[in-house]
Amino acid sequence: MVYVEDTKGQPIAGAGNSASRNNRLDPGEKGKAGSRAVTPASGEATNPAEPAIQVPAADNFSELELLHARARYYPQGMPLGLKTKSFLARFFDPALLGQVRIAKMAGGRVPNPSFYKEAKELGFKNLPDLKHQTTVTFLDVVVFNEQVTERALFHALVHATQVQVLGIDRYSQLFVRGFLRTKSYFMVPIKAHAFALDCQFAENRERGFSVETEVARWLREDRY
Ligand SMILES: [Zn+2]
Repeated sequence: MVYVEDTKGQPIAGAGNSASRNNRLDPGEKGKAGSRAVTPASGEATNPAEPAIQVPAADNFSELELLHARARYYPQGMPLGLKTKSFLARFFDPALLGQVRIAKMAGGRVPNPSFYKEAKELGFKNLPDLKHQTTVTFLDVVVFNEQVTERALFHALVHATQVQVLGIDRYSQLFVRGFLRTKSYFMVPIKAHAFALDCQFAENRERGFSVETEVARWLREDRY
């Protein structure tokens, strides 16, 4: 998913530190309200063709939403079971698998992020309704609207890996920029990559591959 935010004076360890293994969120991190200027990653040029929206503001906004949502759902989340963890270890970093929490929505569904209203006013029509999404990933917390399936969990863990590799700042920037560029949620490279990898998983669940390596490769090849 999309949205992030953060913390006053107490930056999340490793956020924005790309390709670092130190992006782990403190499991005790509970939404500390506050604001922080998001600094665009160095060397990232502004695309003049992008719509006239305050990208840094949108980034910051989405980041805040992500962290708030994570803080909201983390306490009700459960760790992955041992069997699931050992099966998924052929695809994902075991430390990430140990960190992730799974929350099931009991009644009710994940609401849409508040920036949707603004985005709709700006003319974006194809925003996905989170109510109809199977899962929504808030950093390392996966919220299931529906029955937990292996494939949906895999997809969600790809996003968690992207956050781990890219850092929260970069992840949310790339998401927002990709969305502004493609005007389509499903064509945002971060999303498209997760779909491609979950297809690969569905084709052969026994043949392991490292999602982290794939994410690092896309980053290196500038495909996000
Ligand atoms: Zn996705």
